[in-house]
Amino acid sequence: MISLAHKLLKWYDEHGRDLPWRVKGGAHPNPYVILVSEFMLQQTTVKTVIPYFERFMKRFPTIESLVQATQEDVYQYWQGLGYYTRAKSLHQTAQMIVSAGKFPQTRDEVLKLKGIGAYTASSFLALAFNQPETVIDGNVMRIIARLYALTSPLDEIQELIREKAQKLTDTKCPADYASAIMDLGATICTPKNPQCLLCPWHDDCLSCGREDVENIPQRKKLPKKEKVGFVYLIKNTKGEIYLRLRTEKGLLSGLYEFPWSEEKLFNKAKNTQKQVVHVFTHFKLTLNIMVLQTDNANCDGFFVPIDKLSAYPMSTLMKKVVKTLESA
Ligand code: SF4
Repeated sequence: MISLAHKLLKWYDEHGRDLPWRVKGGAHPNPYVILVSEFMLQQTTVKTVIPYFERFMKRFPTIESLVQATQEDVYQYWQGLGYYTRAKSLHQTAQMIVSAGKFPQTRDEVLKLKGIGAYTASSFLALAFNQPETVIDGNVMRIIARLYALTSPLDEIQELIREKAQKLTDTKCPADYASAIMDLGATICTPKNPQCLLCPWHDDCLSCGREDVENIPQRKKLPKKEKVGFVYLIKNTKGEIYLRLRTEKGLLSGLYEFPWSEEKLFNKAKNTQKQVVHVFTHFKLTLNIMVLQTDNANCDGFFVPIDKLSAYPMSTLMKKVVKTLESA
């Protein structure tokens, strides 16, 4: 029987991506190439990394040339990739390797370098030295959970996934196997709309054809934070209503609003016992609607006739408040 690893490797031979830091058929002959690409790929997609990698390697073609460069020079070639601590760590790691006179080849040694965690260590050892390391990131977790139809929440099955992923790893060609499983996750067994018909494991996979395949593995949704505050409908003696322009950076900036805050702004305001609730991406906001009669609100805003309110762009949250105006 053909093993799963063998099927994957065969697929990789034909369909694996050609990437500037990749050679097929074993370890990369130049570990420095793998080192640079692994640092760049932390928190960044392959597509974004490619032009930066090519520019960087032209400027710093050897580990010695990187060590000789100043930090500013390295930063300049990292510009646009973000997360500059990675550039700093790569520079320091290169210095450590050059001082040691050789690339580390054991897990313990690799983990002593700067900016390298468990995942990067496995990936580096597999790709640069063809060591039988199992790379496990979100892509691999997803593939293994689907392959064995592990439908429980991800945080309950991580250990099981790890064991299964290790058993699957090809020990004869771990470098290609690591690249292959990454490519499978990036191009075939994608989070949404996996291409099961094109998958080398479609005869073996217990989730192939399942309608709920996109929900495997199950990810726990974090409960949204709840915030509570007060929104003030302030009317003057002319019956006009008080508005202000939100100028703070971020949420709702540039829109008009009734004064609102998580703290109480006016002690004399009366609580209408009505509320508006709005769910933002990261939190749920409940505003208690307060009313106040005054000609001097003193809240960086201005009074406008109620029938002119529609001329002022407002957020959905404030539009919900407007709806309560009639009865307020
Ligand atoms: S058959 Fe489908 S679900 Fe299973 S590993 Fe392949 S792409 Fe993923």
